[in-house]
Amino acid sequence: TNLIITIMAEIGRSIVKMDVDSLINLLNKALADEWLAYYQYWIGAKVVKGPMKDAVISELDLHATEELGHAQLLVTRIVQLGGTPLLTPEDWFKMTNCGYDAPTDEYVEEVLNQNIKGEQCAIKTYSHLLDLTREGDPVTYDIILRILADEVEHEEDLVALKEDLDFMLMKRR
Ligand code: FE
Ligand code: FE
Ligand code: MG
Repeated sequence: TNLIITIMAEIGRSIVKMDVDSLINLLNKALADEWLAYYQYWIGAKVVKGPMKDAVISELDLHATEELGHAQLLVTRIVQLGGTPLLTPEDWFKMTNCGYDAPTDEYVEEVLNQNIKGEQCAIKTYSHLLDLTREGDPVTYDIILRILADEVEHEEDLVALKEDLDFMLMKRR
């Protein structure tokens, strides 16, 4: 049985027409981003203060859950490709593309701005990964496409909240 499973995994890997080690490295970098994004949203939801706090908390909590789902998708693919997913939190900072912004200023607008910046970085990162995998690895491509669609939605959700906040505060842009 082990032999058959090994052969199947090898065939799964053999259809990838790009350098598997560098692909695994890029997926691990994205995994680092997802964990940091998860925590930034999760802790942001705990400390955020100001007008429309309840609506912002709901969105931040939902996004935290969705970032964790992205981490899940990435790890599943890394393991399928025969790679080792990041095994320790120290690696998150070593590998991240988008970094981490601590919500030291807990005012809603500032927390929203930090997370919008994070989403914009995530969109760029996944858009690049999509280009890299389009020809060489349709399975990873499909996963990245699903994640990218979520990140685009996240950016829009946060921008819409900021817009509502501006209207509430009677700002005109
Ligand atoms: Fe994500
Ligand atoms: Fe996101
Ligand atoms: Mg949302």
